[in-house]
Amino acid sequence: MASALRNLLIILGDQLDMASSIFHDFDRKQDAVWMAEVSNESTHVWSHKARIVLFLSAMRHFRDTLSRKGITVHYTELCDSTLGKELRQSVQILNPQQIMVVEPGEWRVQWELKQAVPELRILPDQHFLCSREEFRNHADRRKQLRLEFFYRELRRKHHILIENNQPVGGTWNFDAENRQRFNKNGPGHLPLPVSFTPDTITREVISLVEKKFAQHSGRLQKFDWPLTREQALQALDDFIANRLQNFGRYQDAMWSGQPWLFHSRLSAALNLKLLHPLEAIKAAENAYYQIQAPLASVEGFIRQILGWREYVRGIYWHFMPMYAEKNELQADLPLPSFYWTGETDMNCLREVITQTLQYGYAHHIQRLMVTGLYALLLGVNPVEIHRWYLAIYVDAVEWVELPNVLGMSQYADGGLMASKPYIATGKYIQRMSNYCQNCCFHPEQSTGKNACPFTTLYWDFLMRHQKRLEKNRRMQMQLRNLQRLDKSKRNDIRKQADRLRHYAI
Ligand code: FAD
Ligand code: SF4
Repeated sequence: MASALRNLLIILGDQLDMASSIFHDFDRKQDAVWMAEVSNESTHVWSHKARIVLFLSAMRHFRDTLSRKGITVHYTELCDSTLGKELRQSVQILNPQQIMVVEPGEWRVQWELKQAVPELRILPDQHFLCSREEFRNHADRRKQLRLEFFYRELRRKHHILIENNQPVGGTWNFDAENRQRFNKNGPGHLPLPVSFTPDTITREVISLVEKKFAQHSGRLQKFDWPLTREQALQALDDFIANRLQNFGRYQDAMWSGQPWLFHSRLSAALNLKLLHPLEAIKAAENAYYQIQAPLASVEGFIRQILGWREYVRGIYWHFMPMYAEKNELQADLPLPSFYWTGETDMNCLREVITQTLQYGYAHHIQRLMVTGLYALLLGVNPVEIHRWYLAIYVDAVEWVELPNVLGMSQYADGGLMASKPYIATGKYIQRMSNYCQNCCFHPEQSTGKNACPFTTLYWDFLMRHQKRLEKNRRMQMQLRNLQRLDKSKRNDIRKQADRLRHYAI
């Protein structure tokens, strides 16, 4: 006899959208939704408490929205299990005619669900502006993948900042205008981002997480992330009205005690699908046409979402599962323990990690040119640093985290993502922040007791990987500078770098 339940719709923790295509043919009388909170999703990497609260609370809010609309939701609150096990059990009990899910964001989850229910129907995810299929076609047509060409294609396809088939302002990219630092007085008065005080659901989840995941890192006192569609829209409006104007100019700048600066704080809401990327892009484009924000800021913001965000997703699905194993530079050190505590004398790392533990947030340059750069220069195993990034940020979902970490930050994919390793001495951090002012090290020194570890390790990195880097045209200037160091200086640098590596273990 055919089951009374026609379709069982699996909604994963990062698929919280009522407008999702999975609901298009939904019939309240015959269909139901399935959602589950399983502890394995918080422990397979040692998740920051704020990341766990964000997912669980947003899921519970979404469950209640569905229930208010009269939709049957089979919902399991936090249990010690895995998604696959829970789903298999539910399917045996509910016996649906068809089980559907939108493409999961993580290769591991897709594999687990398919193992649990081989007849699972997987629908394309319409929360991206480039499908997995389209990216495959784009990649197959090219010898080398680069963001710039991909981004231009998407600008044209979606007609974003395009007039007469040409980029508005006569150029595709205003990157050169988007690298300013603050002067010695710092950013001055900053507009505080809209904050969402935890409601009853979130407070309950916070208590649960404090109890059940007490040993996990991270703090929850300042938890205020958007968790519902309404809050996500409010956060977008707030960014467009108050911070977009200066976003472009200062997107690479860093300043002590200022985690947000002019950043949008929208990544978690976008990744949970509380916001569609096109909504954020159109809101920014509109601000330009309404003369509320300059073109360089608007284009810079759009490039992050329409360009980088779509590009890294494409890379992820095109190259997984092998991508996760890449280790081109054969880096093999364990992650220094201070990444979990912030207890280090290096002020930049202390500031960025402490802020990360407090909020589950650091902006792009803090991730790339402070925590990521140090791990790269030191020679940390890419899997170890990947697991840290996946655990520690509220917006961390593997499809976006892995290519950013392995590809962009650690050069572990040998140049698939980035045309060269992003490496610099401590002088880059000195230029883009005020961190070095309160540090016991000196960014211009590479040897001696006050030498900046970034600077020592930078020269050491160039020496260790010189052969490989010589083949890269974009590394020639950095390698020419290396030639200027005499033999005894190089030896001193090598010894000091060995000591840094020894203490890191
Ligand atoms: P803004 O600076 O305001 O940027 C606007 C939006 O652009 C972001 O919300 C995000 O959706 C998108 N964006 C910006 N840069 C990138 C990028 N490189 N890749 C993809 N999207 C981008 N982003 C995540 O969402 N999850 C991650 O787990 C993650 N891990 C990262 C790890 C490393 C090593 C690096 C270098 C970057 C990582 N990023 C990740 C990208 C970026 O750092 C964050 O998206 C951004 O800092 C989030 O803050 P925001 O919303 O204030 O972003
Ligand atoms: Fe970081 Fe070096 Fe500057 Fe200290 S001197 S804050 S370690 S870059």
